[in-house]
Amino acid sequence: MKNIIFLAVQGAGKGTFAKKLKEKYHYAHISTGDILRERAAVEDELGTKIKNMIDNGIFVPNDIIYEAIEYKITQPECEKGYILDGFPRNLEQAKGYDEILNKLGKELGVVINLTIPNELLKQRIIGRRICRDCGAIYNIYNDEFKPKVDGVCDKCGGKLYQREDDNEEAMNTRVKTYFEVTEPIIDYYKEKGVLKTVDSSSNPETVFKEIEKILESDDVNN
Ligand code: AMP
Repeated sequence: MKNIIFLAVQGAGKGTFAKKLKEKYHYAHISTGDILRERAAVEDELGTKIKNMIDNGIFVPNDIIYEAIEYKITQPECEKGYILDGFPRNLEQAKGYDEILNKLGKELGVVINLTIPNELLKQRIIGRRICRDCGAIYNIYNDEFKPKVDGVCDKCGGKLYQREDDNEEAMNTRVKTYFEVTEPIIDYYKEKGVLKTVDSSSNPETVFKEIEKILESDDVNN
């Protein structure tokens, strides 16, 4: 199997598919958003600085991100393959990641670009609810993904919460930032011949099958 970079605007389903790949193939799931939220929960100077940036949809400085990535991908759980979710976010980070890989003698793998129409994206982000205990993801605007009982996790009975940055204002900032600075990396990976595009607006099972097909194919670097 190949290491994967998921590219997509937040809310397109990166987190959901990364979780599914982890369950089925034991890939390590590296979400820079999760790493940063964990660090932001520590009430010191750096934690407060990171929390403010996350709550306002602003990028956290590269040196903090690179250190976390290098540490994570050299851990034993990444030996079977890993999924990068939320990194790289711009061309500079994509080049920075190449340098990290060169230094460590690791392969890039495959880059999967998940696409989604804007209206559907809005519904997914504003309606997203997450279980505090097991991390299961729901959507209150979609009958298929609604919890059976309001605010309660179907799987473990845990309390559901809405991420602080899952509001329309932060979403608009993130979408704008995404198109301005993240999209150029699509061209960068296209040129390297490692980019695969998947339409994420159909049902999750269909999208997941398409992702599996890409991972099984040999037409990208291992
Ligand atoms: P996410 O969970 O991926 O939506 O990320 C939440 C927030 O964490 C983002 O809006 C940024 O503030 C920060 N963040 C996550 N990944 C990165 C990254 N690769 N570079 C800079 N900031 C990031």
